[in-house]
Amino acid sequence: MNVEEFRKYGKEVIDYICQYSSNIEERDVAPTLDPGYLKKLLPADAPQSSESFKDVLEDFEKKIMPGVVHWNHPKFFAYFPSGNSFPSVLGDMLSSAIGSIGFSWASCPAAAELETIVMNWYAKALGLPKAFITDAPGSTGGGALQGSASECVLVSLITARARAINELKGQTTVHDSVFLPNLIAYASREAHSCVEKATKMALVKLRIIDADVHGRMRVDLLQQAIQNDVNAGLTPFFVVATVGTTGGCAFDDITEIGKVCRQVSSIWLHVDGAYAGNSFILPEMRVFSAGLEYADSFNTNPNKLLLTNFDASALWVRDVMNLKSALNVNPLYLRHEHMSGVDYRHYGIPLSRRFRALKLWFVFRIYGVKGLQEYIRNHMALAKKFEMLVRKDDRFEVRNDVHLGLVCFRMRTGDEPNHTLLAMINHSGKMHMTPAKFNGRYVIRFCVTYEHACEKDILDAWSQIKCFAEEILRDNQLEISSAPASPEAERTSSEPTAPVAGKPPIKKKLTRTKSLRFSFTRSISREQYQNQSEHLGDGATPILVVDPKTLQQNFQKAAEENERLNNIKNGNTANSNAKLKDISDVDTDEASN
Ligand code: PLP
Repeated sequence: MNVEEFRKYGKEVIDYICQYSSNIEERDVAPTLDPGYLKKLLPADAPQSSESFKDVLEDFEKKIMPGVVHWNHPKFFAYFPSGNSFPSVLGDMLSSAIGSIGFSWASCPAAAELETIVMNWYAKALGLPKAFITDAPGSTGGGALQGSASECVLVSLITARARAINELKGQTTVHDSVFLPNLIAYASREAHSCVEKATKMALVKLRIIDADVHGRMRVDLLQQAIQNDVNAGLTPFFVVATVGTTGGCAFDDITEIGKVCRQVSSIWLHVDGAYAGNSFILPEMRVFSAGLEYADSFNTNPNKLLLTNFDASALWVRDVMNLKSALNVNPLYLRHEHMSGVDYRHYGIPLSRRFRALKLWFVFRIYGVKGLQEYIRNHMALAKKFEMLVRKDDRFEVRNDVHLGLVCFRMRTGDEPNHTLLAMINHSGKMHMTPAKFNGRYVIRFCVTYEHACEKDILDAWSQIKCFAEEILRDNQLEISSAPASPEAERTSSEPTAPVAGKPPIKKKLTRTKSLRFSFTRSISREQYQNQSEHLGDGATPILVVDPKTLQQNFQKAAEENERLNNIKNGNTANSNAKLKDISDVDTDEASN
């Protein structure tokens, strides 16, 4: 592709993006597809000869887009935000166009220097302790942009591990691995699974600490566990506190955790604020960042709540020498004569690094700190609005403390009707949400994510949720159990809230109203659903729960419909034996239109 072609097609792509963004509400927020849908639509081998850009873009719309979940859709309330914004996309385009791989100062001085500057801007905007800011007097700290929060946690853990092993090793020459069985890390039951993954990769033990009814790590239990482990001859070396847990956006008490960690010199305290750490840009949220002065490291993803597109996760450490000594390898071919410049390859796992600071620089400059504050305050106000709507309706309850953009709610029934509610929400294609277990209960996570979210989005979503709930309650003659006075009170009663005794078990059959596109959804029997509901109800894969007889009848109907359509298409009115396989093909065509 030459420059003129790039100019032409580049403009077409920008036009496509504008069109997509302006009309996104015309699309279902998430598709209902089965794995393998795309294999049926694309050739098995790459083309031997060049194809036209027009064809590629057309296929993108017809074949790729039907399989896209629209994270920037106003009705996308799942996970946490993906942080996209136009300024960030434009900054990233320039980064892609430059294509510099900034592993050392010499490999791209602008990338290295902008990263330092932007990380300092960011740290100051969040009100982080001066120890994390490279240009603060006396600071030994600093930060770097990693690809993800999982990477930040792993890098911190590896650094903490190296520091602890060095202390244990002293002057001995035994191999570092000898000390691995001694090391133990701690995280709350509500901490993100990436902590467990990091300890697996680093071959160290992890002790899970229980959380209180608000989802915060129990500091008394942490202290006790550390004491027991020290008494047993183990070396506590890593504690993860979370500010904004994934399940319920709970904020651990960093000050209290920090005080406990200070009692054992081998402990490195990491604070994971993947989503909510960004909210410290608001002075009113800094009540939750109190105690960061105890932390050895802290991460937050601008690609979750700071309008910066994936990937970008910021990691700050109190002493960059710890990072560098844990991760430094210095072969001759990477050395250069400007050793006073920062070499970010010592700050993370990969050698090659994207010029991520560019998009963040665009975001800070185009929105300004005030614009970013406004955006987050809007999410907070809308989450509060949704919380208020839910709380006003006796049939529902809110399970988490709503401090930011996440509301965890459920119907006051057993778990199963709530599984069904989530399946109906996601199956509708009109909204997208995900489940979580919060404080031992199944909840539906409603997270405000859209950049320009407004009250109408929230009201529309709520009225739709209520319609589904009414259908479930009516069809199954469920009554609402009397509400527990509070999560605290409920914790003392061991049994989950169940449908009222004597009522028949749920017999709901979900049926698609749109069409008979069975291959786009997982049709499963009620038995299967009941046996595997934990796995199936992940909210990411819409499911259709049917009894086998209905399933067979529906397949038959779909086969007949398929045959009828084929006959019309072929100008043939005679009957032929349609096969179930063909149903998928019809579905496939439908999806690409
Ligand atoms: N930590 C927390 C608290 C999270 O909520 C998440 C993801 O949502 C992660 C870590 C993992 O983030 P990433 O996908 O950037 O690795």
